[in-house]
Amino acid sequence: MAQQWQPDSWQNRTARQQPKYPDPAALAETLKRLASLPALTTAWEVDRLRAELVQAADGRAFVLQGGDCSESFDDCNSTAMLRKLKVLIQMSLVLIAGARKRVVRIGRIAGQYAKPRSSDVERRGEVELPCYRGDIINRPGFTLAERTPDPQLMLRAFERSAMTLNFIRALSEGGFADLHHPENWDLEFVRNTPGSRRYQQLLDSLTDSIRFMEVVSPGELHQLRRVDFFTSHDALLLHYEQALTKSERQRGWYNLGTHMVWIGDRTRELGGAHVEYCRGIRNPVGVKVGNSMTPEELVELIGILNPENESGRLTLIHRFGAEKIRERLPALVGAVRSAGCKVLWSCDPMHGNTHATRSGLKTRSFDDIISEIIGAFRIHKELGSRLGGIHLELTGEDVTECTGGPGNLTESDLSRDYRSTVDPRLNYEQSMEIAFLLAEQMR
Ligand code: PEP
Ligand code: MN
Repeated sequence: MAQQWQPDSWQNRTARQQPKYPDPAALAETLKRLASLPALTTAWEVDRLRAELVQAADGRAFVLQGGDCSESFDDCNSTAMLRKLKVLIQMSLVLIAGARKRVVRIGRIAGQYAKPRSSDVERRGEVELPCYRGDIINRPGFTLAERTPDPQLMLRAFERSAMTLNFIRALSEGGFADLHHPENWDLEFVRNTPGSRRYQQLLDSLTDSIRFMEVVSPGELHQLRRVDFFTSHDALLLHYEQALTKSERQRGWYNLGTHMVWIGDRTRELGGAHVEYCRGIRNPVGVKVGNSMTPEELVELIGILNPENESGRLTLIHRFGAEKIRERLPALVGAVRSAGCKVLWSCDPMHGNTHATRSGLKTRSFDDIISEIIGAFRIHKELGSRLGGIHLELTGEDVTECTGGPGNLTESDLSRDYRSTVDPRLNYEQSMEIAFLLAEQMR
């Protein structure tokens, strides 16, 4: 029997991946302050995203979720944010035009500051320090001061989330996101590749259609002057999530620090604190589904997180790796179907395809990413299921973190502009190429 849920009932469970704050009084003080600040989102927006996800589950829309592995405080600047937003909007345009389907845009953004780690400590030579857990918890520099968890960083992260969301809202409400102004949509530093030529053709034909429609029914296309853009993050740091959880009278509890949350592959155990926290909020919840997930466990987890079997509530984000997907996915899809569970399936082709180069850099190969995406579409189709979304780690910058792609990056190219302190991201050009591939697969 499910126990009574409260925003803090997770505290009675084992919570993995939490920092150890040295000063409990300072932590409590910060959380109180955090809870008193104005919310970032509204219950109406969250419900609107849920309605969009219902459409994606029904095959009438496709979810494009993407952004940094972990946002950094330094990247909270206009240029980086503009580029991130731009690449996501441009990718969505490719999907809409290519696959003739609505796209639900969700950033890993405005709150994606905490990282699960494989070890609690990092050792360099004789020195051992707490590992870096993301800018909301500690700092990447290798000193005790920088690695000691500091609750104040939650406030700094919340402020940056607010600034990021403010910027997103301004840009997506008009001007920048207005399809009547294709000059905002150029490909900047992307090379002259078949992909970029395809993109230019797409933009030209879109511009033509809009001009035509404006002649036929002037002023009717105001919808094209703005785009919807939602936010999401890994609900990892549970004190933070709890502080942002508000009761909306009859509607229930909402995490108003974002629109959607997901549970990571390392924190999704059935009796654990993360599942306990997420089961009580009305936000759409994603669950990362990795290689250790069994069909029985998955069905049980769905029962806990979505007991009313509501469409739009739960997104299963599978991430097996190109080599494992055919072995792992079919049994899970079969079990979910037999149990009659309503879920949206999404594919994260990043986290099962990470490896280290000879020099120790974390990277991913573009070919592996593509192979997992194609596999995912194919397997769902074979099983009479449907892939309704994609979950990517990407940036709008010209970084060199993943190998392959249109620029044919090799391992020796990676050091040229490798910026991520966590997982490697697709760069601008690689991301656009993935969008064309997705559009092709969706047709
Ligand atoms: C992530 O999305 O950055 C992540 C750590 O993924 P996963 O939980 O799937 O390993
Ligand atoms: Mn990651």
